[in-house]
Amino acid sequence: MAFTPLEKVKRKYDVIVIGSGLGGLTCANRLARAGHAVLLLEHHIQLGGLATWFKRGGHTFDVSLHGFPYGMVKTCRKYWSKEIRNAIVQLKNIVFDNPQFSLSTTFSKDDFSRILHEQFKLDRTTVDDFFNTVRAMNFYDDQGMTTWELFEKFFPGRSDVHRLLMEPITYANGSTLDEPAITYGIVFSNFMNRGVFTFEGGTDRLIGMMADDLQKNGVTICTGAKVDRVLVENGRTRGVMVGSQEIIAPAVVSNSGITNTIDNLAGREAFSGDFLSRFDKVVVNNSSCQVYFGIRKGESFDDVGDLLFTSTAKEFSSEEMRRMDTRSRTFSVYYPKTRPEKPDYTVVASMNGNFADWAALDPEAYRQAKEDMVERCFKDLERYIPGIRDKVDTIESATPKTFNRYTLHTQGTSFGTKFEGLDISRTIFKEVGGLFHVGSVGIIMSGWLGAINYGVIVANDVDAYVRS
Ligand SMILES: Cc1cc2nc3c(=O)[nH]c(=O)nc-3n(C[C@H](O)[C@H](O)[C@H](O)COP(=O)(O)OP(=O)(O)OC[C@H]3O[C@@H](n4cnc5c(N)ncnc54)[C@H](O)[C@@H]3O)c2cc1C
Repeated sequence: MAFTPLEKVKRKYDVIVIGSGLGGLTCANRLARAGHAVLLLEHHIQLGGLATWFKRGGHTFDVSLHGFPYGMVKTCRKYWSKEIRNAIVQLKNIVFDNPQFSLSTTFSKDDFSRILHEQFKLDRTTVDDFFNTVRAMNFYDDQGMTTWELFEKFFPGRSDVHRLLMEPITYANGSTLDEPAITYGIVFSNFMNRGVFTFEGGTDRLIGMMADDLQKNGVTICTGAKVDRVLVENGRTRGVMVGSQEIIAPAVVSNSGITNTIDNLAGREAFSGDFLSRFDKVVVNNSSCQVYFGIRKGESFDDVGDLLFTSTAKEFSSEEMRRMDTRSRTFSVYYPKTRPEKPDYTVVASMNGNFADWAALDPEAYRQAKEDMVERCFKDLERYIPGIRDKVDTIESATPKTFNRYTLHTQGTSFGTKFEGLDISRTIFKEVGGLFHVGSVGIIMSGWLGAINYGVIVANDVDAYVRS
């Protein structure tokens, strides 16, 4: 796809969007549709941010296309296009396998209620009360209750139930039992609507369709363009610097991480002491590790499920899930149906991870740790697909350092920041006129659905600001 080379961008736009994650792409597109001249600057050579893919050994690997809630159907139809909406399909076979239970589910409310009643022997009223409570949670609720307290209220002492309810959400947004229950409730309820969905044709097709739409709406897209500085003058943004090139705009939307945006792009000197003291309490979320397996052309295997939440750890622990030698991982299994026009079998193992653990290693220890991680994933995968070793022709792996390199996110964070980041992101424009932030913050604005919806919200704010 041909974008605009940096030397050909104009000197002035209405809005500059820094970063092309799903939040940045959506925000840029909405603003262009509203009639603004928009420039989108992305440091990587590819659009999509964490919604990304790469090609190796004749295979295409999806990095973050493991599953999203049904809400994406409405969001994509309303804010993108019918074509994008029509490619969203359900994943019907979600598998859990750990020392406490093994089961297969559609991950819908009805199926979860049935499982909690029949397999976990909980009475229906308690289960219904739990679902009604989490569904009623909203952003303005009291945030005093933690997820652990919520679980204990309904299912005291049932670590097996806690695991079923929590493990997928910890993979989906890095949240832990000690965080406000709302960060759990909103995301869990989103999934519990109708189950887990994916995009037929893969991430490359989705981002390609989005890029076409952006260009049709007149967005100037420039990749390989790292913004070094947001220019701030007299409490307002004036534009950005990309290397030595100055580009002017009255409004700048940063889809870079909120910590990068404040510490490095605008610079702390642009903010008040009170704002910075709130900002300094923001905790960056964890990162991820992945191992990618490509299956030799002509080889195949039986259906083992679409998404496998597997663990050999005795009980659920978000701390255990972030360890380098974690025994907990998800396998996303991609069958030929994922890309009907380019049928292939691939498997992606995903684990949560801490940046500091990987960054501390010298090059040889880092290489060895990656090799050990691949071997652990292989061993686990063989339990579900016997003989898989002989069928794999391509292996690749990623660590928190990889995510940091490609997205520039502080500590390679996969899901932005913990809850406190949301308020900072939402109020940054009050500190620096014309500077907005979009992207994963506060856990609930992360994930494909959260990022796109946040893109719409911020586009409305920016539109109002520019018009005023
Ligand atoms: C391993 C993994 C698996 C995941 N799985 C799922 C899943 O199954 N389902 C789901 O819903 N979500 C998943 N997610 C989360 C989801 O991918 C993200 O929450 C979402 O894509 C983030 O979008 P964003 O708008 O916050 O921007 P990001 O994707 O974080 O993109 C930010 C962009 O800004 C660019 N940028 C940063 N600084 C600059 C700069 N100075 N100049 C120019 N450009 C800059 C970066 O290069 C990047 O392109 C997963 C994430 C990871 C890491």
